[in-house]
Amino acid sequence: MDILLLAVVLAVVAIGAISGLVITRTRSSRAPTDDRPATAAPPAEPQVGEDAGDPAPPLRRTVEDVELPGTPPAEPDVTLDKEPGAVAPPEPVPPTETPEPTVGRLVRLRARLARSQNALGQGLLTLLSRDRLDEDTWEEIEDTLLTADVGVGPTTELVERLRERVRVLGTRTPDELRALLREELLAVIGTDADRSVRTEGGVSAEGGELPAVVLVVGVNGTGKTTTTGKLARVLVADGNSVVLGAADTFRAAAADQLQTWGERVGARTVRGPEGGDPASVAFDAVREGISEGADVVLIDTAGRLHTKTGLMDELGKVKRVVEKQGPVGEVLLVLDATTGQNGLIQARVFAEVVNVTGIVLTKLDGTARGGIVMAVQRELGVPVKLVGLGEGPDDLAPFEPEAFVDALIG
Ligand code: GDP
Repeated sequence: MDILLLAVVLAVVAIGAISGLVITRTRSSRAPTDDRPATAAPPAEPQVGEDAGDPAPPLRRTVEDVELPGTPPAEPDVTLDKEPGAVAPPEPVPPTETPEPTVGRLVRLRARLARSQNALGQGLLTLLSRDRLDEDTWEEIEDTLLTADVGVGPTTELVERLRERVRVLGTRTPDELRALLREELLAVIGTDADRSVRTEGGVSAEGGELPAVVLVVGVNGTGKTTTTGKLARVLVADGNSVVLGAADTFRAAAADQLQTWGERVGARTVRGPEGGDPASVAFDAVREGISEGADVVLIDTAGRLHTKTGLMDELGKVKRVVEKQGPVGEVLLVLDATTGQNGLIQARVFAEVVNVTGIVLTKLDGTARGGIVMAVQRELGVPVKLVGLGEGPDDLAPFEPEAFVDALIG
């Protein structure tokens, strides 16, 4: 009996030992397998870092590695200390892209003016090269200008001057004609105007520095929000720090759209609740710009052209409220170059409502109506400062009359 009991006890102990060994082996054989992916993970899972929700270290690593040579987006933390009462500021927005330099952009984009080039530049050169410049030909020249949206006033002026100069010239070589047309187109467009976007800030009553404030106005659909985003890139490329104000609170996607543009170049976007008061967003954006020590605050406004009084009230209020903190340096009117006369009517309404200081002509790519540059400047007496030549992020170019005319006449 005792022997039997001893045998049973021995058997239990033996089974226990064997199963313990198995469990230990299973664990120890799994452990390295578990460890291996963990050590192998960094290369396989380098946390590209852009996606929301990624842990902080990889994000920081990506930003430092890739973007430090770009714009330094570090001011907010520094300025914060000066604002003891302010709500804790959000983290600086690290840029993910470095925008292209703005110098020579129009030259780079000249091919985008192909349709205007054919319709206006080549059209005029071909007509002017005819052996006999009779009344019919001059009428065709006039039609070419009007069809390209040059506008009645500038067209009449241009035709008169061309007639006079061709008469004086007598025989015409193609080179002489090109030079003559170049001069006359430039004379209508004007080469003296200051076409830079004003980025000099002001000084507050307390002697503190104020950012330059730029209001971007225009009817929805003209490319206003896109232009505001692209303009942020232009300004950053030229060495400015920028804060964006998403004061187009009526179009649901506008604030998101703007924020995405801003994030790419390290510009913070100040936004409010959807349908909220645009003026209060504009005010907050300027305040943020002051606290960050930003160079420029760009404010995208709502462009609902319901009634002129409504528009006037809205934009007037935005401007007044912004001016409580500092002057508005620039009011840029965005116009869609493809809309022809409609665009000019819009321009007139906006100019009556707010003091437009510069024009941005969008969608000049793929339109034959490049002449709108002349018409709209004449209409408002305000220079075209920027032109949109495509949907790409760096397809907004400072307007240079010479480069523009050279592109037109090839
Ligand atoms: P908003 O309603 O005035 O703010 O208009 P958006 O900024 O949303 O732009 C309307 C559309 O115009 C978008 O599809 C833009 O990509 C497009 N757009 C803006 N500027 C240009 C341009 O210069 N060229 C072209 N081809 N499209 C443009």
